Amino acid sequence: MIPLSSPNLSGNEWQYLKDCLDTGWVSSAGSYVGRFEKSVASFCGAAHAVATSSGTTALHISLLLGGVSPGDLVIVPDLTFVAPVNAVRYVQAAPLLMDIDPHTWQMDLGLLEDFLQNQTSVRDNHCFHRATQTRIAAILPVHILGNCGDMDRLMRIAAAHSLVVIEDASEALGSQFAGKQAGNFGLLGCLSFNGNKIITTGGGGMIITANESLANRARHLTTQAKASPDDYYHDEVGYNYRMVNLLAALGMAQMEQLPAFLDHKKKITVIYDEALGSLPGFRRQQIPDKGSPNHWLYTLYVPRLQELRQFLKLQEIECRPLWVPMHRLPPFRQSLFITREHQSDDLYAHAISIPCSTHLTEGQQQEVIRAVNQFYHG
Ligand SMILES: *Cc1c(COP(=O)(O)O)cnc(C)c1O
Repeated sequence: MIPLSSPNLSGNEWQYLKDCLDTGWVSSAGSYVGRFEKSVASFCGAAHAVATSSGTTALHISLLLGGVSPGDLVIVPDLTFVAPVNAVRYVQAAPLLMDIDPHTWQMDLGLLEDFLQNQTSVRDNHCFHRATQTRIAAILPVHILGNCGDMDRLMRIAAAHSLVVIEDASEALGSQFAGKQAGNFGLLGCLSFNGNKIITTGGGGMIITANESLANRARHLTTQAKASPDDYYHDEVGYNYRMVNLLAALGMAQMEQLPAFLDHKKKITVIYDEALGSLPGFRRQQIPDKGSPNHWLYTLYVPRLQELRQFLKLQEIECRPLWVPMHRLPPFRQSLFITREHQSDDLYAHAISIPCSTHLTEGQQQEVIRAVNQFYHG
C-alpha cells in the first residue's frame, strides 16, 4: 500500500520524548511547550504563538477572542474540512457559507465582495446582513490544501466592511502570500498538527497573532482561566485546551525537519505536474500571483473521479476525495449559502489527492504515475 501522506518521524522525536519521560515533565508545564511556540512563531514571523490541544480548539478560542458572539454570522468557505464550521457553532454563532472560486478552490472573493456590497450594511463599525438583520462578525478563510487565496484582496474586502479576519491555516504551515506566512494576515491565525498535516504532534494546534493581549487571553482561556498561580481562582469560564509537553517535544523535532519537508513536497509536486499535468481534462488548484504554497497535498481535478478511485484502490494506492461541501451536511443544511454555480459541488465531484508523503520514494511516485496513466490511456 502506498500511503497518501503519512507522518515522517525520522528526526529527534525519540530523543525529545525520552527527555520528557526521563525528567517527568509530561504535562503542559514542561519547557518544550514554550520552545515549540517560539519556534513556530519565529518560523511564521508572528510575534506570539499559543499551543493548543488541536487545531479545532485553536479555532474555538480564536472565534471567542475575535469577538464572535452568540447569534452572529461568520463567513466560511463552503468547501473545507468541517472543523472551522463546527467551531463557529461552538460559540453559538452560525456559518454563512460562501461558494468557492473554480480556479483557486478557495472562498470566491468576487462573490464575497458582491454579497457584502449588495446584501449588507455597516452601522457603528458592525456589518449587518440586511435580510435577517443579523450581525456578521468575521470572515474565516480556510487555506485549503496548503495554498492561500489572494490575501491582499481578502483583507481589503474585510476592512471595507468592518469584518475581523480569523485564518484557518491548519493546512498551510509554510505557505506564503506576498512573502508573508499564512496565518499572519488576520487578527488571529490557527494551525493544526494533526497526524496528516505537514508537521505533526499526533494531535495539536496553535494560535498565532501579532497582538500581545490576545495571546495572553488565549493562554488564559486555554488553561481554565486560572487567574492566580497559587490559588484555584478562575475569573471566567475557561477551557482545558493547552498542549502537553510530550506533544510539544514531538513538535520541536518536527519543526527542525520542516524546511526539508517543504523541499521534498515541492519536488514531488514538480514531478507529478510534469508527468500528469497534460492529461486531458486535468486541472490543478491555481496559485495566485504572489502565492507560494507548501504543497501539503497533491490534488488534481480529473474526469471520471469515482472510477479512478476504485482503480487506485485495487492497485493499493491510497487516495482521498475532498470534503463533502458544508451545505450538504445535516448540521449545516439550513445555513445561508451564497453561490452562483455550485462550484463546491463540482470540485467535490472531481478532485482527488494522491500519495505525497515526505518519505514517498521515487519508485513509489513512478508507480502512482504509471497507474494514473494506465487508467486514462489503458
Ligand atoms: C486539520 C484541520 C483543522 C484542525 O484539525 P484538528 O484535527 O482539530 O487539529 C482545521 N481546519 C482544517 C481545514 C484542517 O484541515
